[in-house]
Amino acid sequence: MARNILVVGELVGGQPTPTTLELVSGAAGLAAGGNVSVTLLGTGATAAAAACGGAGTAYASDDAGYDTFRAEQWLPAVEAALDQANPDLVLISQSTPGRELGPRLAHRRNTAVAMDCTSIVDEGGAFKATRPAFGGNAVATYGFATTPAMATVRAKSFEIAGGAGPSSTVALPGAGESRTNVTGHEQVVAEGLQITDASVVVSGGRGLGAAEGFEMVEALANAIGSDKAAVGASRAAVDLGWYPPSQQVGLTGKVVTPNVYFAIAISGASQHLAGCSGSKVIVAVNRDADANIFNVAKYGIVGDYKTIVPAIIEELKKG
Ligand SMILES: Cc1cc2nc3c(=O)[nH]c(=O)nc-3n(C[C@H](O)[C@H](O)[C@H](O)COP(=O)(O)OP(=O)(O)OC[C@H]3O[C@@H](n4cnc5c(N)ncnc54)[C@H](O)[C@@H]3O)c2cc1C
Repeated sequence: MARNILVVGELVGGQPTPTTLELVSGAAGLAAGGNVSVTLLGTGATAAAAACGGAGTAYASDDAGYDTFRAEQWLPAVEAALDQANPDLVLISQSTPGRELGPRLAHRRNTAVAMDCTSIVDEGGAFKATRPAFGGNAVATYGFATTPAMATVRAKSFEIAGGAGPSSTVALPGAGESRTNVTGHEQVVAEGLQITDASVVVSGGRGLGAAEGFEMVEALANAIGSDKAAVGASRAAVDLGWYPPSQQVGLTGKVVTPNVYFAIAISGASQHLAGCSGSKVIVAVNRDADANIFNVAKYGIVGDYKTIVPAIIEELKKG
């Protein structure tokens, strides 16, 4: 059944974010011949539409007033696109703006939103959304009783397929007044590959024994490749001051969805799993065979990380 799907896109530096491109590709796969459209708001939006391979229509406004996300300004624009696109499904990134937009948009449209989804499928003509529940210990699947169905979706839940960009662009109105005055921005300087973008995340926990243990974790990440792997940490390791809070994975840290997640000397507490259970493959190294991490790991190695990790590095070096 052909479906119309609207993606609420986001721009960084005038370019669609990777998650926007993933959602457009995912929408193209689900639309079954229906129209896929994308909203883009802010400086460079109209030009950025060309990068959204798989979308048929872009709803765009280049108004710089949208550059700083303010829900009260974005919502009328997204609703204007929604009125025209008449979607069966609205996909929004599980980003900071998306987390605010999703519930507010759903409330305005008298519908419901499934938050923090990791997959959306069409099951016999009905959309089903899957999301981790109970801190990542269970997976919940939701159906939608109202239309349009809405979901906020984690990064890397869909592959970017590319393809031709939109054949038509519809201008959205500029940003209206805002009751919020943003007085400045402070950019967190993060060097190198971010754990949220890396295809491999190598994380260390309290079982490393000391901050120096992270040298071995970093050596493993380097052996995999600095363009592919980034280093994460459990909260226990971060709280001990062994690694920066920016690298914390989990409920109160970052949610990562890499192809491969290495959990080195991490017990696998539910709050940690909340941040990594969406990984495609989890590899655990732990000296306790009963550690909870082995319940979610695809590959588990029981032993002391000080012997296991160098052995993995040696194997990687052999190519
Ligand atoms: C509200 C709340 C929010 C939280 N948010 C987060 C969060 O975002 N992220 C997070 O990570 N945690 C979070 N936590 C904390 C969480 O509950 C755990 O305490 C924490 O994840 C434990 O970290 P860990 O696995 O590194 O340490 P531990 O639980 O102490 O586990 C260390 C592991 O290392 C193994 N080990 C020890 N020595 C070695 C060795 N030489 N070789 C191999 N293995 C070894 C041990 O067998 C053990 O399994 C949160 C807790 C609360 C209450």
